[in-house]
Amino acid sequence: MLKKTRLFTPGPTPLLPAAQAALARAEIHHRTEEFRALYRQVLEDLRYFYGTKNDVILFTSSGTGAMEAAVSNLLSEGEAVLVATAGKFGERWVEIARAFRLKVDTVEAPYGQAVPAEAVREKLGGGSYAALFVQATESSTGVRHDVQAMAAVAREAGALFIVDAITGLGTMELDVDGWGLDVVVGGSQKALMIPPGLAFASLSPAAWERAELARLPHYYFDFAREKKSAEKGEGAFTPSTALVLALAEALRYIRSVGRESLIANAQLLAEATRQAVRAMGLELFAPAAPCDALTAVRPPEGMDSGVIIRALRERFGAVVANGQGSMKGRMFRVAHLGNYDFPDLAGLLAALELVLTELGHPCELGAGVRAAERVYVEQGPKSKVQSPKSLAAR
Ligand SMILES: *Cc1c(COP(=O)(O)O)cnc(C)c1O
Repeated sequence: MLKKTRLFTPGPTPLLPAAQAALARAEIHHRTEEFRALYRQVLEDLRYFYGTKNDVILFTSSGTGAMEAAVSNLLSEGEAVLVATAGKFGERWVEIARAFRLKVDTVEAPYGQAVPAEAVREKLGGGSYAALFVQATESSTGVRHDVQAMAAVAREAGALFIVDAITGLGTMELDVDGWGLDVVVGGSQKALMIPPGLAFASLSPAAWERAELARLPHYYFDFAREKKSAEKGEGAFTPSTALVLALAEALRYIRSVGRESLIANAQLLAEATRQAVRAMGLELFAPAAPCDALTAVRPPEGMDSGVIIRALRERFGAVVANGQGSMKGRMFRVAHLGNYDFPDLAGLLAALELVLTELGHPCELGAGVRAAERVYVEQGPKSKVQSPKSLAAR
């Protein structure tokens, strides 16, 4: 049988063809008027993608670079910070903050659950923390956090609110300005449909004020220096010109379909996936607060998820992600963010049914696909496809 490799991983995600083509046209110098115009456009379009009036800073690095920048540019040695953590990426906030010798406290939820905003309020109250960190969507477990409620809690406590929305952007409603999200971190290889290598951070006026007072050391990841360069249409150093070209195409595409449609697309695919895997007799890893960026699914009782992942890849070329760290073998993760459509998902669900059946997990063929189709019929786009007859009558 023929098979095509298809990425269903929550980063990197499938590339937008127009962005991929732009990568091949990347012979451009970064200190030219042509590139400056492009860079300005990209920064403006990033604000559209974020839905914010705040500045968005761009770094050439993976997403973690902008996470580190948020710590090193906004805090001073010895300050206390609080991290609401529910998975591997929450633990990354803790590790970065510790690396910069901050005093780090956590409010934790077990893997698969969200940290309740109320628990954050209890710990944050008293005003002794300089900042609160969280993931909008915790990609290691498929959990979503109540960012809006946490923003209110942070504001009450006078703490800067710093959100890793690397998989939240483009998959959930985030009212950056309305809710008061001081820093929102993004990355290129998720809903933006381009390869890894660019990281972003939006900064509120309060975040800029804090940046002026903050004293932690940093060099490459410098918000203020990047902002100054961006005003001239440039990066402070040599940005990945190829990726900036690709990003321009991806953002042009997102503007053309609308950021709301990109979000609605992920939401529909996520809901269809949740219904489908339940119809196959599988359980979600995060049933109480699932995000729409990806779905984490538990394997059948007694089966290592690696067996399913390998079979999907070897038989159908479909690449889904395993669990990270101690969650390895306990889940597989299917992405919905960025360049996925319904046929992509329907094909994967059919492949999953075939693989499960072969592995001896009783699963009625078609049950998952049918459940997903039902979600599409009930919640999908409402405009009617024109029939050949009505087209002929025109
Ligand atoms: C992908 C991801 C990151 C960034 O990882 P990098 O490998 O540095 O790009 C951070 N947080 C979350 C929630 C992610 O999904």
